[in-house]
Amino acid sequence: MAATAQISVPGTDRKITVSTGLFIDNQFVPSVDSKETIECINPATEEVLCSITAASVKDIDVAVASARAAFNTTWGKNVTGFERSRLLNKLADLIERNAQELAELESLNNGKPVRLARDADIVDSVGCLRYYAGWADKITGQTIEVDNKTKMAFTKHDPIGVCGQIIPWNYPISMWAWKVAPALACGCTIVMKPSEFTPLTALKLSELVVEAGFPPGVINTVPSLGSVGGAAMSSHLDIDKVAFTGSTVTGRKIMAAAAMSNLKKVSLELGGKSPQLIFESANLDEAATWAAMGVLFNTGQDCCAGSRVYVQDKIYDKFLPILVEKASQLFVGHGFDEKSGCGPVVSKVQYDKVWSYIEAGKQQGARLVLGGEKRTEKGYYVDPTIFADVTPDMKIVKDEIFGPVLSVGKFSTEEEAVKLANDTTYGLAAGLHSNDAGQCMRVSSALEAGTVWINQYNLLNNNVPFGGKKQSGIGRELGSYALEEYTSIKAVHWNYGEKLD
Ligand code: NAD
Repeated sequence: MAATAQISVPGTDRKITVSTGLFIDNQFVPSVDSKETIECINPATEEVLCSITAASVKDIDVAVASARAAFNTTWGKNVTGFERSRLLNKLADLIERNAQELAELESLNNGKPVRLARDADIVDSVGCLRYYAGWADKITGQTIEVDNKTKMAFTKHDPIGVCGQIIPWNYPISMWAWKVAPALACGCTIVMKPSEFTPLTALKLSELVVEAGFPPGVINTVPSLGSVGGAAMSSHLDIDKVAFTGSTVTGRKIMAAAAMSNLKKVSLELGGKSPQLIFESANLDEAATWAAMGVLFNTGQDCCAGSRVYVQDKIYDKFLPILVEKASQLFVGHGFDEKSGCGPVVSKVQYDKVWSYIEAGKQQGARLVLGGEKRTEKGYYVDPTIFADVTPDMKIVKDEIFGPVLSVGKFSTEEEAVKLANDTTYGLAAGLHSNDAGQCMRVSSALEAGTVWINQYNLLNNNVPFGGKKQSGIGRELGSYALEEYTSIKAVHWNYGEKLD
């Protein structure tokens, strides 16, 4: 048995117990060969919460072997869709029952407000598990006529096998649910590697996996550094598929490792530099609210963050102060303060990265209209920061910042708006605000993005697919489309009548 840590819940006399070992075969275990640990930091205070075991390459092998054994015995093709559905629903119930504690742990490790973790991330994650529980017994193939008298063909959608799942730190519980739910619904087994910055809720969820009654090995959780565990999973010869969310740089490495090892199936949900277009017919007050939240939600640490806002020239001077006003209303504070709408960024690394972009914005001559000043208190806080009059060559316009930093620019025609919006290597999401129906249709079809929001931003549904174009990714999560990522189609040709002479 591996050790546990006690983490104090601020403002209460409660403690959250977290198992600090690796979760393999339904047990928390120490590493087989390593003493490496990962320090978990509270970004709101910069204090160490606890240290957990970091999986080595050998530990990944052990976890993969466990997942393979489960796939071949208790799970995979040996478990009915009804049973997968029942267990997914049970897990959803348990997460719902433990929502407050999970939200507190998420806030302590990631910084986000407890209220949002509980009422948004966890509610959506429970919904995701239930949505895929609904699919588990409805994964069917086709019957295909090939000749009317002697032959037929049919397809089976088999579980793809052992899945490596590598998730980031911005939505640790949601990303866990988005990956785990469709994989389990399809009959796959899992080796899950949470981010080294936010591994605690994945470990806590592992306890619920046991309580729900999943057989050993169906879900294994192996916190590890990306360059160790993540890399080992990407090149592992007995992993059939890797699903990844994170940066484009890492996505490229994963795809290369998959290609050079066993050509495992890969799905990638990568970064973005998403545009929000504000046309002159838009309701400016509503558009400003969506545009501000579109970039500031989750402290800007959102792959869809609409961090480039382009405003039609005729309304630019009127819109900008409304936008600044909306953004300045956001209360940035400790995740345990119920008023907090936005916590600190996740880590010192991310804090330094965001500030380097704010400095670059100032140096490259963008007009700072909100924020841009460092706080003196402890914690990785960054206040909403808006730069106006930006030009396409600026670093803050080109690069994904992953912080609460918004660039505002101007356009005059619809064609120019689309050109500016598409002037990026990314293609994850885009938004437009207009009350001209024809314009909404034309512009939404011209935008190069996997998701387009019209007169709203950043709202996702478990039954609607999500994923990127261009260098924002490959494959789709959520909706029925995600089932394709976890199944392998087998065509069976059947001769029931033709005799060869
Ligand atoms: P990252 O891509 O390095 O990390 C994401 C996950 O990949 C983590 O679990 C990490 O351990 C793992 N990983 C890292 N190197 C790996 C490797 N060689 N092989 C396999 N897995 C590996 O992202 P980050 O360093 O945590 O953040 C850097 C930037 O990435 C952020 O500033 C942001 O721009 C972007 N990001 C995007 C998302 C998103 O949702 N698209 C999420 C997190 C970060």
